[in-house]
Amino acid sequence: MTKEEAENGRDEMEIDGCEQREAIAIPEGFNPNYLKVFYDGKHPGCDQSYFGRREFSFTLENDIYLRFQSFYSVSELENSIREKCPVKIDIGPVYSVDPAKRRAYAQTGDNVFTPVERELIFDIDISDYDDVRYCCSGADVCLECWPLMTIAIKVIDTSLRDDFGFNHILWVYSGRRGVHCWVCDGKARRLTNEQRAAIADYFRVYMGNENSHKKVSLTGPAFHPFLARAYTDVLRNFFEMKLLSSQNLFSTEERYEKILDMIHDESVTSELRGKWQENRRSTTSKEDINVIRWEQLKSLLQSGKQKGQGLRRCIEEIVFSYTYPRLDMEVSKHMNHLLKAPFCVHPKTGRVCVPIDPNQCEEFDPTAVPTLSKLLQELNMGGLKSEVDNDWDRTSLGKSIRFFRTSFLQPLLKSCKEEIESSYNAKLQQSKNSINW
Ligand SMILES: [Zn+2]
Repeated sequence: MTKEEAENGRDEMEIDGCEQREAIAIPEGFNPNYLKVFYDGKHPGCDQSYFGRREFSFTLENDIYLRFQSFYSVSELENSIREKCPVKIDIGPVYSVDPAKRRAYAQTGDNVFTPVERELIFDIDISDYDDVRYCCSGADVCLECWPLMTIAIKVIDTSLRDDFGFNHILWVYSGRRGVHCWVCDGKARRLTNEQRAAIADYFRVYMGNENSHKKVSLTGPAFHPFLARAYTDVLRNFFEMKLLSSQNLFSTEERYEKILDMIHDESVTSELRGKWQENRRSTTSKEDINVIRWEQLKSLLQSGKQKGQGLRRCIEEIVFSYTYPRLDMEVSKHMNHLLKAPFCVHPKTGRVCVPIDPNQCEEFDPTAVPTLSKLLQELNMGGLKSEVDNDWDRTSLGKSIRFFRTSFLQPLLKSCKEEIESSYNAKLQQSKNSINW
């Protein structure tokens, strides 16, 4: 695993082209530097075939897809990227055998070509929120609607860490309209499809369909603790402090009717409707009309007049409908789903798919993400001083690369090494024991 992750990390870096490698003849004889390589080199417990069994997929210009590509080394991958110049690079699972040779294996009659490891991945697209945002639609995104992505990161990230115990989680801007999440812990990579589906189900709350305005169904006398925490820690505040006003959720009849549709009590909805139609012109208060109407709705639903938990639950259902993360479930459920490699350049926007720090996701501004042309300009301005290491440090991508290496890649490598080490030692112990026996 170590090898793969190291190289996986490097292949992202690879795009920046700052890694220079060439074949160097090694003179015979002892040299203390050799020892260093020896000690830093592959652990005997390391699976040398791992990287070569990983699927890479290139998308070339004119929508030519090259699937099931595999590479024996990072330099081989680098050379192929330089040669083919793909507009997009996707990363698939690690298969049981080299994916490029899957047909040959199929002819042997053994159906051995199957995914064996894959990061647990999540894909969230702002285009799935079109019914709750009025500033943009489709692939467009602006600073008014982007915070929907920010709270999705917060809710999912917290749960992955606290409820599932995952540590090595990478969030990446997809380059245009959403975010990707890579959960890279060993136990996440080895999840079966069934286990992935169960995790996806854990996050399922959103039940949207074309015919129903009720997007969320919260059943039972109490919230699941995960949902309760998401609601009180993130969603409620975001809805009340931000989304209400930024999207003007109650500003027109069409908009508030959408919300009233989620309340299944004629007496409540007609009372509110009456108030809102009446005071449409007479409002002189400086307070935001959206906030005023939301408070009116809440106090009516919470008032003693309204019996039954179902009705009070409406408040939460409305908040969930407008704010809860909308995951593309199919992406998470199957090991063999491809996902765009981090640090790719989005072919439509030219923006680099940079990592997002979940601890500072509020500060992330998708409109400020460096584009390819900006980076080239920055490099040119700096002058190609030296071919050494840190050309990219001088660009606006430097911060992202440093974050990727120190906050994600290095801790992951460390844990992979420990995992290999301990399983290797366990095997050694086992064989010793059997000899003693
Ligand atoms: Zn927008």
